[in-house]
Amino acid sequence: MPQRTRKPLADLHNHLGASVRPSILWSIAHRQGIKLPTKSYWEFEEMITMRGKERNRNLGEMHERFFRWTELIQSSPEAIEESVKAVIDGAYRRGNIVLHELRFNPMKRNRGGERDLDNIIMSAVWGMDKALLEYPQVKAGLILIMDRGFPPEQNMIIVDKAIKYAGRGIVGVDMAGPNHPKFSMRAHLPHFRKAKAAGLGVTVHTGEERQLDEMRFVVDEVRPDRIGHGVQCIHDRALMRRVADAGITLEICPTSNLRNSVQKDVAALKRTFKALLAHDVPFALCTDGPEMYQTHLHQEQEFLIERGILTPAQVERARKRAFEASFV
Ligand SMILES: [Zn+2]
Repeated sequence: MPQRTRKPLADLHNHLGASVRPSILWSIAHRQGIKLPTKSYWEFEEMITMRGKERNRNLGEMHERFFRWTELIQSSPEAIEESVKAVIDGAYRRGNIVLHELRFNPMKRNRGGERDLDNIIMSAVWGMDKALLEYPQVKAGLILIMDRGFPPEQNMIIVDKAIKYAGRGIVGVDMAGPNHPKFSMRAHLPHFRKAKAAGLGVTVHTGEERQLDEMRFVVDEVRPDRIGHGVQCIHDRALMRRVADAGITLEICPTSNLRNSVQKDVAALKRTFKALLAHDVPFALCTDGPEMYQTHLHQEQEFLIERGILTPAQVERARKRAFEASFV
C-alpha cells in the first residue's frame, strides 16, 4: 500500500542514533574523515542494524555495539543537522509520520566537550526546521536526553539547555542509558521538576529492564507525562493501577523489546499487552529506532495484529493516544 494512503501516525519514541539510514551515516562519516572499522558499506550496514534472529543480551550490549558508532558519526553540527532532517522527512515519506518526536543526548555528540553544545542543539533545530519547510504537513519536536551514566550536575546542564531552547523546538526531556551502579533517580528529581516548571514535557526510560523499584519511584515522585517502555509494570498490579490513574502514557516499542531481550519472545509480548489492556494502562506504539531495528510504525502495527496481540481497534486506540500524548 502506498504510504500516503495509510493512516497518519505519530511516533513519540525515536532515538536519533538509531533512526538515520545507514547510507546517509556512511556518507557523513566519509565527509568528516571518520575512521570506521570497515571499508565495506555492506559490513557497515550490518554493523549498525539488526536482522534475522539477531538479539542483544541486554541494553548495555546494544549501546556498546550500535550507539557508539552512530553517536560518533553524528558528533558535529553538520552531521546532526543532516541526520535530524533525514529522519523527519524520511519518516514522513516512507511511513506517513506526521507527528514526530525525535530524541538525542547532545553531550554524546560533542566529542567530550570539544564541540560547542549550543551549536549541536541549534544544528538539530535547523535540521528539523528544514524538514518542516519541505513538508509542512508534518509537526515535530526534539527531546533532550539525560544519561544514567552522567553525574547529576552534568545532566542538569542538559535540562538547562532544553529550557533555553524550549521556544525553538525542544519539547521535552528524558532519562536513558543502561543501568549504572552509581545512578540515582532520586538525585534527578530537581531536574524533572525544573523541566516541568518550565513547561517542558517529561518522559523517562524506566521499567524496560527489571527496574520495578525505580519505576514505582518515577510514577509516584517524578510524575512524568509519559514513560519510555515501562513494560515491566505488568509484574505489579498496584503499579499498573497507579500508572493508569495518573494518566501516564507508556511508549511501547515491540520490535525493540524483542531485539534487546526485554521480552523473551512473542508470547511474553502478548502477555504484556494483555495485562496492560486489562488494567487500562494507556499506551502508544513507537519504534525506538526504525533503522537499527529495521522496522517502521505501520510494520509494528501489522505485526501486533497479525500475531493476534492487539485487535485493529486496539491499535487504532494506541494511534490516537500517541497524538493526544504528544509534547508538540
Ligand atoms: Zn528508547
